[in-house]
Amino acid sequence: MQVTKQIHAIKIPFQIPVAPGKTLDRFVYSYLIYGAEICLIDSGIKSSERVIFDYIEKSGRAPDEISLMILTHSHPDHIGSAKAIKEVINCAVAGHANAKSWVEDMELQFRERPVPGFHTLVGGSVQIDRLLQDGERIDLGDITLEVFHTPGHSKCSLSLFCKEEGVLFAGDAIPQRNDLPIYDDVTVSVDSLKKLKSIDGIKYLLASWSDPKEGEEAYKMMDDGLNYLQSIHNAILKITDEAILRDPMRLCKQMVDDLGLPETAVNPLIARSFASHLKIHDMKNL
Ligand SMILES: [Zn+2]
Repeated sequence: MQVTKQIHAIKIPFQIPVAPGKTLDRFVYSYLIYGAEICLIDSGIKSSERVIFDYIEKSGRAPDEISLMILTHSHPDHIGSAKAIKEVINCAVAGHANAKSWVEDMELQFRERPVPGFHTLVGGSVQIDRLLQDGERIDLGDITLEVFHTPGHSKCSLSLFCKEEGVLFAGDAIPQRNDLPIYDDVTVSVDSLKKLKSIDGIKYLLASWSDPKEGEEAYKMMDDGLNYLQSIHNAILKITDEAILRDPMRLCKQMVDDLGLPETAVNPLIARSFASHLKIHDMKNL
């Protein structure tokens, strides 16, 4: 799907095996910036290279025009095809320094963050050639990207703003109401959201887990994300049973029930998000 003159969105559906015989339908977006060369933002899951290459060919360009692949963070659905793409195209791979250990050693990531279906989502490790820092500008010839380090969802999360087209690529930095709350640290996540909200001139918000948002909808999505985190915090503050507060999995179960999330959300990954609120239990407003 063409979003602006130079920016295209590719929606990649996939399934996560959550239990024997049970899968969860999801999708993730990868983005293309067409300049003199092509910049790819995120590589989707394992085997997404075919979808990405087909899209590029159908739009009249060639996959080997990809000169740079930026990984917004190290999670499986963003780096799944990076190895395969790098092997075919030999483009530069860019990401935050905090992504290096998990992108370059998938088995280390699996040991430290064993998400369901990890090996069905990730095709292998890849070297990060170019480290990106907050405030840096990436020159793509006739178009530039400003780099924002937006941790919280992960310590390596990057967002990218293309001023010429008014497009913000946010990866997974913005939580969505009724979706699974996944963040390492709620206060850091809130700071990142406020940082993104302060960017002037956003015409399109391109996140990984939602369809493109245009105009006021873009800023609204960021407000909704902040409100969602606040409502999670409010729900945690209402829990007074010390035994529940001391046990991350019991806290997770209680919160999943309170928020009306699916039962599959009772797992260590989501428990970590809720537990991060306990550090600021004395704070009312995020
Ligand atoms: Zn993620």
